[in-house]
Amino acid sequence: MREIIDMRSDTVTRPTAGMLDAMFSARVGDDVFGEDETVRALEEKAAAIFGMEAGLFCPSGTMTNQIAIKCFTKPMDEVICDQTAHVYRYEVGGIAWNSAASVRLLHGDRGILSPELIEPEINEDNIHYPDTTLVVLENTVNKGGGACYHLNQIEPIHNLCSIKGLKLHLDGARIFNALAATGDKALHYGRYFDGISICLSKGLGAPVGSVLLGSKEMIGRARKIRKAMGGGMRQAGFLAAAGIYALDHHVGRLKEDHAHAHALAEALAGAAWVRSILPAETNIVVFEVDPRIQVKTLVKQFADKGLLCNATGPHTVRMVTHLDVNQQQVDQAREIILHLNPA
Ligand SMILES: *Cc1c(COP(=O)(O)O)cnc(C)c1O
Repeated sequence: MREIIDMRSDTVTRPTAGMLDAMFSARVGDDVFGEDETVRALEEKAAAIFGMEAGLFCPSGTMTNQIAIKCFTKPMDEVICDQTAHVYRYEVGGIAWNSAASVRLLHGDRGILSPELIEPEINEDNIHYPDTTLVVLENTVNKGGGACYHLNQIEPIHNLCSIKGLKLHLDGARIFNALAATGDKALHYGRYFDGISICLSKGLGAPVGSVLLGSKEMIGRARKIRKAMGGGMRQAGFLAAAGIYALDHHVGRLKEDHAHAHALAEALAGAAWVRSILPAETNIVVFEVDPRIQVKTLVKQFADKGLLCNATGPHTVRMVTHLDVNQQQVDQAREIILHLNPA
C-alpha cells in the first residue's frame, strides 16, 4: 500500500517509540492534589526554558490561551490582536464566552504587529470605550504562513505595553519553530511577556498538551481557572512525560522541517497553476492558486495521489511539515506537485 504523506497539520504526528517508553515509565500521582511529579517537572522545565517563574500543564493550546486572556482581562475590557490570530479566529469566540471581553483586530504584515499599528488602537479613558488591557501576539503566525517575530520586533511592543499599562501574552503554539528560524534565545522571552503559551502537540510531536507560563501569582490564578474550565487532570504525568521527552529530543530537529517546507515551496514556485507563495520561513507553506482552479478539487487531486493538505481559503492551500514527514516523502511530494495538472 502506498504511504500517505499527511501535511494537513503538524498536529497529526504519532508518538515515537522513545516517547512511548518515556510515557509508560512515568511516575504519576493526582495532579489536582498537586501530587504528580512528572507534571510538576514539565511545568518547571518549560518555565526555566523561557525564563518564567511558573508553568501550568493544560490539555490544549486553546485552553492555555483562553486562561491567559481570562487572567489578564476583566469583563468589558478589550484585547488587541491581529485579525489572523488563532485566539480570535479558531477558539470559537472563546474571548467573548470565557472573558466577556471585546476584541480590536489589527491588520499586520502576515499577522506581524508593530508598536505603530498597536498604539493608535489603545483606547483612551472615556466612558464610551472598553478598557484596553491586553495585547496578544502569535509566534509563529499560523495564518501568516508561519511568519515569525524576531525578539527585536517584540521588545518595542513590550515597551509600549509597559508604558500603557497593558499585559502582553504570547500565543507560542509554534514558538520553537520561531526560535529555530530566528536564532533568538528562549530564555530571553520571559522578560517581554506576562504570559506565554507553548504547544507540545504541534511540531514537538507529543500526543497532547500545552503549557502556560507566567509569574507564580498568575499561574496560581490560572490553575484555578483551569479547574473551573474542567481542565484539572489526575494522573496526567503520562502525558507530561511525552512533553518532557519532546522538549529534550524534538526541538533540535525543527530545522529539518523548515528545510522540507522550503523544498516544497521551491517545487510549488515551478508549478504554472500556483499564483503566489508566502515565504516559507518555518514549517508552513501557504500558496495561492490560479483563481480558475477549484481548491477543493485540487486538494482532492493531491489526496488521490497520497498527499494530504488543506484548503485555507477560496484560493489558498496550506502544507505543513513535521516529525512524521521525512526527506523521502518530501521528494515524493515534490514529484506529485511537479506532475499535477489541475483541472
Ligand atoms: C494549534 C494552535 C493553538 C492551539 O490549538 P489546540 O488545538 O487547542 O491545542 C493555538 N494557537 C495557534 C497559533 C495554533 O496553531
